[in-house]
Amino acid sequence: MDLLPSKNSTNYFKGNLHGHSNHSDGALKPNEVVTEYKNLGYDFICLSEHLWKGEKFANELVLDTTHLNENDFIVIPSAELHCKGKKYVKNELWHIVANGLPVDFKCADDKETAHDLIQRAIDTGAFVTIAHPEWYMLTFDECMSVSHAHGVEIYNHSCHIEAARGFGTATVDYLLQEDKKIYLTATDDSHFRMPDGGGGWVMVASENLNENSILDSLKAGKYYSSTGVEIIKCEMDNNLVKVQTSPAENITLVGRGSRSLSVNGNNITEAIFDLNQLDTNWFRISIIDNFGRFAWLNPVWL
Ligand SMILES: [Zn+2]
Ligand SMILES: [Zn+2]
Repeated sequence: MDLLPSKNSTNYFKGNLHGHSNHSDGALKPNEVVTEYKNLGYDFICLSEHLWKGEKFANELVLDTTHLNENDFIVIPSAELHCKGKKYVKNELWHIVANGLPVDFKCADDKETAHDLIQRAIDTGAFVTIAHPEWYMLTFDECMSVSHAHGVEIYNHSCHIEAARGFGTATVDYLLQEDKKIYLTATDDSHFRMPDGGGGWVMVASENLNENSILDSLKAGKYYSSTGVEIIKCEMDNNLVKVQTSPAENITLVGRGSRSLSVNGNNITEAIFDLNQLDTNWFRISIIDNFGRFAWLNPVWL
């Protein structure tokens, strides 16, 4: 069984799910952001502008990106949703990324909770993820309160280069440990005020490059996340999991509690794991190459 759709059977599209233009607090105009990502070899981006009212960094309207679509490059209407009630951050605002949002989606009011805001976005058909949990110190109680989101950013490139707090591993694994079904994403959160474009992305398995097909694949977990490592194949036969990648130095499978299996070496391109050695009801695989770049597969529930 393929744990990741085979390259022979489908196309893969490279995309950034989280980024900003000058519609909110990014440095570039929307069409300039498109040019940057086309030059980086992407197939699609999301302009997830800050959606909040009365603040300079945000806009209270979702950006209509229809005019930016081309045959071989699409922009999916998105927003970084904000609402009150977040602990440990200066303005007490939550940050939630919603991809595939209707342009008439309303800004939260002062009373809407993160739980309800996420549900309202999911109800419109959006793919909803919890942004940069490490960067703004999401507490475990907070992450449990929003575990109905589709995913968590396991990597946010701008938080990594700006604050060295770019990872979300602890949040992801805490939710998995609590039996929540959660996917993971790597994103740029690019503003183009720093060199923050092209650091974290998703590779989405999809027949066609269009918004509905990409969103369906994201919601079904048919993608992997990367900061530079390519995952070529991942399959499971009986209890044997086989993964093939671009040259790496560490391939790890983690599961419940502190359970893990790993293969280490120079320029390794394959690992085979026997799940019989691991008493777990879920696992996920991550890969690190000798430049410290990662790839992450979505969790598998047994
Ligand atoms: Zn944010
Ligand atoms: Zn952002």
